[in-house]
Amino acid sequence: EPVVIPVSGHGITRDRLSSGSRRTCETLQAEGFKAYVVGGAVRDLLIGAEPKDFDVATDATPEEVRRCFRRSRIIGRRFQIVHVMMGQEQIEVTTFRGQLSEDTKKDEHGRVLHDNVFGSQAEDAARRDFTANALYYDPTTETVIDYHHGVGDLKAKTLRMIGEPRARYREDPVRMLRAVRLAAKLGLSIDPAAKKPIREMAGLLENVPAARLFDEMLKLLTSGHAVKCITQLRDEGLHHGLLPLLDVILEQPMGERFVMAALANTDERIRRGKGSSPGFLFATLLWHEVLAHWEKLMAAGETKIPALYQAMDTVLDVQAEKLAITRRIAGDIKEIWALQPRFEQRTGKRPYALLEHPRFRAGYDFLLLRGEAGEIDSEVGAWWTSFQHADGEGRANMLLPEA
Ligand code: ATP
Ligand code: MG
Repeated sequence: EPVVIPVSGHGITRDRLSSGSRRTCETLQAEGFKAYVVGGAVRDLLIGAEPKDFDVATDATPEEVRRCFRRSRIIGRRFQIVHVMMGQEQIEVTTFRGQLSEDTKKDEHGRVLHDNVFGSQAEDAARRDFTANALYYDPTTETVIDYHHGVGDLKAKTLRMIGEPRARYREDPVRMLRAVRLAAKLGLSIDPAAKKPIREMAGLLENVPAARLFDEMLKLLTSGHAVKCITQLRDEGLHHGLLPLLDVILEQPMGERFVMAALANTDERIRRGKGSSPGFLFATLLWHEVLAHWEKLMAAGETKIPALYQAMDTVLDVQAEKLAITRRIAGDIKEIWALQPRFEQRTGKRPYALLEHPRFRAGYDFLLLRGEAGEIDSEVGAWWTSFQHADGEGRANMLLPEA
């Protein structure tokens, strides 16, 4: 039986929700369904953090949800969810999921392939990963419904797995990455029972589809706590050969300083609410491989710029597939790299043209990072900082003489 905690016990008043998620719950309830804000949002509100998004869980089927909202659509084929549009907001509404059964399809390592049965709220709670992620908030009564002692665990700063951790990691190895990411992001410690098996079960990540790993690694790298997460993953023995992306990060002796500086920089941007693009991130992670290829090609007699383009293609051909980098992101990465030699050209009209380039900002940020990490003289970055802020005459005076 769940514990129902009144507002005096948790302090979350309904005005803390986004108006869209609140109205979504109210509409469903008015139609006679159960509806709660669930998961990360409730957890974040309890620890005083700003939720990224508000998800709703309900006992209404996707079709029933669809009928309650004019601006809504069903997405997903296997496990359908409904996107409800409320003004500018998009709310993800999920029907309670049922228990796994004997018939649940799994791969030969026990990873769950399809789970598409609906169930009760209690079953839904038990299917979630951590106790802190299995809390339901009812905006009408302002109560939190807690099936697995999540509120207590959060107060004790513990990230605890629901059920037997080994079994839960087998069902879905990505939960190991989620444990590390959520603990770092929320300042929780992973309960020893959930932490201990990670080292020995890490190998199961090899069977997870690359695209799913990529999504999770991207969340981790853009969590605002990437440095902490990466350090922890290494400590848990989660790198060698398991996570291609992590190998890229940690197994480049030359580039580790650069990559760590880049991640620290990304963390800082994200914490200040400035956002960061996947293209920029991957451009930094792979840059030292590009440099190595580029130098080799030039040593073999290739001219500078064609050598750079060839090096970029070589690195991306190998990595894009392994890491499941999308075409669009690959395009962004290339643009940032290709701009780098243009920052060296500080004569005549060229710097003015570069300033007008649509990707100038990303290229310039990348240049600063290279200076910070000691790869190039930081004077170049400083020159561009001044050039941007100088007036017309100041700029003209800054130009270097034609060679
Ligand atoms: P974030 O703040 O990064 O969004 P989150 O916990 O909300 O963290 P989501 O991926 O948005 O993460 O998932 C929403 C909810 O779905 C989680 O809180 C959890 O209850 C459930 N969930 C997500 N992934 C899993 C999983 N791999 N296994 C079990 N439950 C999961
Ligand atoms: Mg979420």
